[in-house]
Amino acid sequence: MPENYAALEESYPIVKELRQETELVWINPNKTAWAQGSKEIELTMADIDDAEARLKRFAPFIMKCFPETREKGGIIESVLTPIPHLQTRLNEKYGSGLKGKLLLKQDSHLAIAGSVKARGGIYEVLKHTEDLALEHGILTDYEDDYTKLCEPASRAFFSKYTVQVGSTGNLGLSIGIMSAVVGYKVIVHMSNDARQWKKDLLRQYGVNVKEYASDYSEAVKQGRAESDSNPMSYFVDDENSKNLFLGYAVAAKRLVGQLETLDVTVDEEHPLFVYVPCGVGGAPGGIAFGMKQMFGDAVHVFFVEPTQAPCMVLGMATGLQNKISVQDIGLTGLTHADGLAVGRASGFVGRVMMPILSGEFTLRDYKLYDYMRDLLETEDIFIEPSACASVQCVVMLNQLAESKAYLEKEGLTKKMPQATHILWATGGNLVPETIREEYIHTHL
Ligand SMILES: *Cc1c(COP(=O)(O)O)cnc(C)c1O
Repeated sequence: MPENYAALEESYPIVKELRQETELVWINPNKTAWAQGSKEIELTMADIDDAEARLKRFAPFIMKCFPETREKGGIIESVLTPIPHLQTRLNEKYGSGLKGKLLLKQDSHLAIAGSVKARGGIYEVLKHTEDLALEHGILTDYEDDYTKLCEPASRAFFSKYTVQVGSTGNLGLSIGIMSAVVGYKVIVHMSNDARQWKKDLLRQYGVNVKEYASDYSEAVKQGRAESDSNPMSYFVDDENSKNLFLGYAVAAKRLVGQLETLDVTVDEEHPLFVYVPCGVGGAPGGIAFGMKQMFGDAVHVFFVEPTQAPCMVLGMATGLQNKISVQDIGLTGLTHADGLAVGRASGFVGRVMMPILSGEFTLRDYKLYDYMRDLLETEDIFIEPSACASVQCVVMLNQLAESKAYLEKEGLTKKMPQATHILWATGGNLVPETIREEYIHTHL
């Protein structure tokens, strides 16, 4: 980090606003037309297709190990639902002026992990499992019967291997549960933000949960070092993993059919807005990349971060990416949004997002709980505080000068009555009842 704030703030006035915990929107000046932007990215639609095909191959295995996925044939997917009552509430209570349709993508209710991490995390464990199984003859080829992986002989094979990951909670849950079920030894390195119930749940699966007094970046560092020293260990690297990223990207491909079912048109005259809470960047980045592949210039993706942990906007706005942390500008990185409590963003994701991302909002922690109650009271849907961050985007879109200017510049202002807005609900279903009650009564 440049020791000199003054110089950094002179070049990037937003740094001062971030340092002062101002709620803001940053519009990405580097966004390009998708025809051009897609050429700057090393990943393609073929990579998403490959990930989707792998998830299909594993569907019979998933269905067998996790009976709750039977109804969807072993495909881990969430519903997309209209939430008109929340829309009315936001317009009346906060003056949001939101026109068009408001939808909720309920990754909060994904099977197995109860969060968006059931996409990337589980995908990466399956990818690693398939690689090992093919290499060692546990599976003969892609056409083999993947339910073999449920058998004791297979579990005995995988028990020689270890999977490790650093996490603020939800990634550990998804990697931990899936790895334990395949038969791996699992070590989850949890940062100080991780909620106790997430650690307890993992231990019930026989996962070795290591706790650190430090933040996410440090937990990742420790986990990576421990894994690197063991040749039989695989480290899921949330900061750099293309596998995680592609697992998330598959969501967009499946969303196309869901939008059709809801009679939602997406084209130049009918813009689609997608809002995703951002931690290290893998989940929102993968989703954004997938959405761009499917909808090109008709989709506008915004991320949202807590004012104490705006690592992605800091990295992207200054161009320093993962070379700068929120602590470098005097923020704590501490937030009630445990899933977003990350001080240093993924450099890989930040670079991929440069030509793609429309912008980023930030919000104060107290709003997480207000928005949570708004959703619960109007739609009877519970999602965890981190996931509620996305509500901030639709509340502020028509109220902040910079986002209004974005709509104007992109020729969207007149099209807003035909627009569709998707709030990405990133977690919540596994939150125990007692903790839900606690959240519902939290007023900051
Ligand atoms: C992990 C997580 C996110 C953000 O994902 P990143 O890949 O860390 O950016 C958002 N919401 C919840 C609930 C999460 O657990």
